[in-house]
Amino acid sequence: MTVWVLGDQLYPDATPLQHDDHVLMIEAHAVGERMRYHPQKLALVFSAMRHFRDELRERGYDVTYIEAETFGDGLDEFYAAAPGTSLVLMDPPSHGAGDRFCELVESRGGELTVVENELFLTTPATFDAWAGDDDTYRQEHWYRHLRRETGILMGGEGVGDDEPAGGEWNYDDENRETPPDGWTPPEVPRFEPDESTREVLQFVESRYPDAWGSNEEFIWPVTREEAQQALSHFIEVRLAEFGPYQDAMVDGEWALNHSLLSAVLNLGLLHPSEVVEAAEDAYRSGDVPLNSVEGFVRQVIGWREFVRHVYRRAMPELAGANQLDQTESLPEAYWTGETDMHCLSEAVGHVYDHGYAHHIERLMVLSNFALVYGVDPAELNHWFHLGFVDAYHWVTTPNVVGMGSFGSPVLSSKPYASSGNYVNKMSDYCASCPYAVSKTTGEDACPFNALYWDFLKENENVLRGTGRMGLVYSHVDRKGDEEWTAIRERARDIRERGRAGTL
Ligand code: FAD
Repeated sequence: MTVWVLGDQLYPDATPLQHDDHVLMIEAHAVGERMRYHPQKLALVFSAMRHFRDELRERGYDVTYIEAETFGDGLDEFYAAAPGTSLVLMDPPSHGAGDRFCELVESRGGELTVVENELFLTTPATFDAWAGDDDTYRQEHWYRHLRRETGILMGGEGVGDDEPAGGEWNYDDENRETPPDGWTPPEVPRFEPDESTREVLQFVESRYPDAWGSNEEFIWPVTREEAQQALSHFIEVRLAEFGPYQDAMVDGEWALNHSLLSAVLNLGLLHPSEVVEAAEDAYRSGDVPLNSVEGFVRQVIGWREFVRHVYRRAMPELAGANQLDQTESLPEAYWTGETDMHCLSEAVGHVYDHGYAHHIERLMVLSNFALVYGVDPAELNHWFHLGFVDAYHWVTTPNVVGMGSFGSPVLSSKPYASSGNYVNKMSDYCASCPYAVSKTTGEDACPFNALYWDFLKENENVLRGTGRMGLVYSHVDRKGDEEWTAIRERARDIRERGRAGTL
């Protein structure tokens, strides 16, 4: 039996690797042309694969590493040399991938056994047993269930073992701060490219001239050892203030106190259990406050696991879901970064420069703007998928189509739509923006504002009756005809500017 290790399964402790020391890895270059993937994403995956290959070889594995155009070509080469070989593969989380790989292998006379993917904390069976046939599940319920089941952050001083550490499930009230003036975030850990990564960066530059994004500053961890260093740095330096500032946005700062671990978690270079354990240890030893640790743990065991299972159960419909029938194309600014809107140009710039923007920029700037502007969720999903170093269909799609675009109600009962007020409250962007966040109409009014009201009016039939939208629609109802005419005109004008690239 030979273990087929995919580029996002780089976990040396995976069970198949404990049973067999023959390994197949295929670096499929044409896959990188399916869309204009960020060059740092391509370089990260290829470099991490090559480093993993070298590490396995050092540990005595017999690794067949094939550079090919497609997986099919790679398998042709493999089977030409080793006809009839049986392969074992951990189930890839993206929809239909396991079946496609089975067909590819069987049509070449081999056999593929697909086994449980161990790179998550929970299995499909665990989630399905919890959720049953009901599709109205909520992340918060799953999160609490999982904490009870696993004992993560349960018990401790003053509470029983069946109660959450500190007595509360959730410390959101302490986690919505913005940093004081003059605050500077901790330094971002930088993993300088070694010779092998530099080679890959050059290859990516010549092979993918249409890739979208900059490869000038590549700082991502590409080995398990580096990923573990990034985790230690996060726990020791960044985690303490992660909680309070997790929803904040600061001019000129792309990372703040976020962990920057999604890329390595999604590659398998770190396992979610070790990340959660390290955070919990920091709390138990008194080094880091509970509100930060709980906020972080919820992201990993609540959200990350949840979106994986929701995706699994909601596909294939989820990818094309568009319950609001939104049809606009992405504004030009998403490709150029050129817009007077300070928040949008910062967020797009972060993605272009680093293949990364933190959660609130993704949700409350990049997808919120596309949502109120009316962008087709599939088109936004495509943009997120190509632009981010941590993007994979299983995680990008539920976040963009479900959470960000409200294309489907699977992840939330109401849209994450807001006017410029939210950005103003959580960032210092508006102070230096030529658009006035206090204005809804008029040439210099913040584009978010008219678009927000226009969005609510346009989608009234679906949204008015949706959970928790009553208060919002009471504001909609208070506006007179004249005000609506001005709002809708302004929204039309903004969309025209979005299309023309003059936002
Ligand atoms: P931190 O803020 O430090 O959070 C810690 C970890 O929690 C992350 O590393 C991640 O593994 C996990 N996490 C938190 N929220 C989520 C979530 N909603 N879904 C899955 N994991 C979560 N995450 C991706 O990994 N890939 C994507 O392509 C992706 N696209 C997104 C698109 C949109 C529109 C939105 C709103 C969110 C998206 N997310 C995605 C989720 C989340 O924004 C990123 O995981 C996070 O910003 C990564 O940065 P970090 O590692 O510094 O995270």
